[in-house]
Amino acid sequence: MPARSIAILGATGSIGASALDVIARHPERFEVVALTAYRQWKALFELVCRFKPRYAAMLDIHAAGELEAAIRGAGLATRVLAGPEGLCTIAALPEADTVIAAIVGATGLESTLAAAKSGKRILLANKETLVLAGKLFIAALRDGGSTLLPIDSEHNAVFQCLPSDRACGEAARGVRRILLTASGGPFRSTPHNELSGVTPEQACAHPTWRMGRKISVDSATMMNKGLEVIEARWLFGVPADAIDVVIHPQSIVHSMVEYVDGSVLAQLGNPDMRTPIAQALAWPDRIAAGVPPLDLAALGALDFAAPEAARFPCLGLAYDALRADGTAPAMLNAANEVAVAAFLEHRIRFTQIAAACEETMSRLAARPLTTLDEALNADREARALTRRLLELDQVLTLPA
Ligand code: NAD
Ligand code: MG
Repeated sequence: MPARSIAILGATGSIGASALDVIARHPERFEVVALTAYRQWKALFELVCRFKPRYAAMLDIHAAGELEAAIRGAGLATRVLAGPEGLCTIAALPEADTVIAAIVGATGLESTLAAAKSGKRILLANKETLVLAGKLFIAALRDGGSTLLPIDSEHNAVFQCLPSDRACGEAARGVRRILLTASGGPFRSTPHNELSGVTPEQACAHPTWRMGRKISVDSATMMNKGLEVIEARWLFGVPADAIDVVIHPQSIVHSMVEYVDGSVLAQLGNPDMRTPIAQALAWPDRIAAGVPPLDLAALGALDFAAPEAARFPCLGLAYDALRADGTAPAMLNAANEVAVAAFLEHRIRFTQIAAACEETMSRLAARPLTTLDEALNADREARALTRRLLELDQVLTLPA
């Protein structure tokens, strides 16, 4: 009997592929129970043939029908579910003890929350859940008796540098600062006057990580780091002033924790998401992840620098939203999703992403956040405003 039974929300994405790679290396430890995707039924069908899960679900109902037909045609027994309810059913399946939350964007909130309420080990990649509703999500985890393990590489590094007896969402004793590293993305040294002309293809060509398109653009604007600052606030129970960002172009030091005695603990490794995923899958054990050993002598040097505020205005916007609290982070995330989707569709310029976010935030007032509906309403309101600001009259959906 494998030790852990796993459901993956967002199995066809970049995180999904890394997770399945690690899982496939340890068939004696892990069983894939369920896989989900948005509407790429052929990609999910391939995974179903390979891993033979008991369940598969697609958000798109038409795609679910295609998947079902293909599965029956292949003589497989996998049950197919559809729609947002299908994804939430998968997140809460009694047959799975571990859920990998790897859907991209605010759209992953509902299913990730469903997992939190169901007493699972949750491997969280979907940082947007914590940005939208951090306080509610941490409360749902406690109520549901779930365990949260971050697989975002920076937060996984911080997790590894903190004492193991710390409760999720609570500050560890003696911590002075959390230091998140950032590669600076592909435009770290691009002349300022060239930034408005960069293309989605250039923005998605990340120097050290291979990731989905949305998070790649977020890395180029450093909104990703801003969202990660908010994510760290909820995961580690520290205020905004105790979270700093340092540029580290080689992406070898994945983040650090500074203690009051002056000790700084860091986690290092090659930039490969299979390391944090394997750490969280096996925790507290350690398993092979297929990642080559780190060769520090070959690297020679590791560089660090402060982020330039003028080059990366999105980082400052995220700190502002975190300090404003309540619904402000949800609104910033929504504005950013709309703007990034517009940029990826060549409708706006790269520099307009930050401008759209800033303008949206300046026109909306943050409200207290006590219910999920308040978070979802703030998300909707900000999306509508950003769309108007960008003069887009049709609904934009994130490419996946
Ligand atoms: P991706 O675009 O490669 O994959 C996204 C997955 O979510 C796909 O399986 C897609 O089918 C599914 N999906 C997309 N829209 C959906 C919707 N509306 N409903 C249901 N499913 C939907 O994204 P990714 O790069 O794997 O990132 C996933 C999450 O992990 C994001 O929150 C990202 O910030 C986070 N993350 C990614 C990396 C990385 O290296 N890729 C690193 C750290 C954190
Ligand atoms: Mg990260």
